[in-house]
Amino acid sequence: MSIKIGIFGYGNLGRGVEYAVEANPDMELAAVFTRRDPSQVKIRLAGVPVVSAADVAQWKDKIDVMILCGGSATDLPEQTPKLAELFNVVDSFDTHANIPQHFDAVDAAAKKGGKAAIISVGWDPGMFSLARLYGNVILTEGKDYTFWGKGVSQGHSDAIRRIKGVKNAKQYTVPVESALEAVRSGSQPELTTRQKHTRECYVVLEDGADAAQVEKEIKTMPNYFADYDTTVHFISEEELLKNHGGLAHGGFVIRSGATGNNKEHKHVIEFSLKLDSNPEFTTSVLAAYARAVVRLAKHGKKGCMTVLDVPPAYLSPKTGEELRASLV
Ligand code: NDP
Repeated sequence: MSIKIGIFGYGNLGRGVEYAVEANPDMELAAVFTRRDPSQVKIRLAGVPVVSAADVAQWKDKIDVMILCGGSATDLPEQTPKLAELFNVVDSFDTHANIPQHFDAVDAAAKKGGKAAIISVGWDPGMFSLARLYGNVILTEGKDYTFWGKGVSQGHSDAIRRIKGVKNAKQYTVPVESALEAVRSGSQPELTTRQKHTRECYVVLEDGADAAQVEKEIKTMPNYFADYDTTVHFISEEELLKNHGGLAHGGFVIRSGATGNNKEHKHVIEFSLKLDSNPEFTTSVLAAYARAVVRLAKHGKKGCMTVLDVPPAYLSPKTGEELRASLV
């Protein structure tokens, strides 16, 4: 019997889950839930109901796992605990500093409802978290490095859009190639924020806006840009839509360590991702963990987990025997 998936929230990730369900023959999409007027939300797959989020409890016994696709800033801290009491859930919560707090809230709710949950699934957190863990347990003496990009940072793009005189903007985070090479050499360099990434901004101004002032405000913005070498390009709205409409991203997790009497043997573990579509990749990961959470729930697991707590074989539709014959 196929796994019945619910999508909660229909933005970039919601759309991505539709593709992921199609790509996994053991899954079917049961319903899409939205806080907006369902008649106004057009989904891609035919024959799947779009339902008001207010009616979600009525679907309690018709969905095996709910994939939460809300935003990390304000949606998921509220939605995941609420839904974890009713459904097995997975989410992509990516505010790293608040993961412990989010975990506790979801854990309490899931245990109360007798359900299983996996939070912070995606690429970072998610695949990168696994890469960091494997790096740390294998090279116990060493250093961790994470580089992001080249890719669009939604948070930094939003920060530019809030500046007076800015009509629209896209910001790319770009890893510094020489820093990457230094890390890959095994020399374990100490790198400052500025040495690891640069920031490239493409900005559309309002009519009559002061370009020099906008550029200054971007480059001196604390936390977002002040600690980086930032380039600002002013372009037309047409050019922004034509050349900067994509959602590509990626990055590198590198663990550099050494073994031997005098630590003379250097080892470098590198995990990298190059993603044409950040949301479509993220939802491909969410789908695999959706399968895992359903299986874990069937085996009696209750409460919250992260990707670090899930045995890898649970992610695959194949049997243990099939996996041993093909992937071990
Ligand atoms: P979106 O802004 O596209 O969607 C978030 C929510 O906004 C949706 O669930 C939807 O809820 C609502 N929404 C979407 N479109 C509209 C619209 N046109 N009008 C009104 N409301 C709308 O966010 P993303 O899907 O791009 O990303 C969601 C989160 O995923 C991000 O906040 C990010 O933190 C996380 N993420 C995590 C990654 C990881 O590696 N762990 C990677 C990528 C993203 P509703 O249908 O209820 O209105």
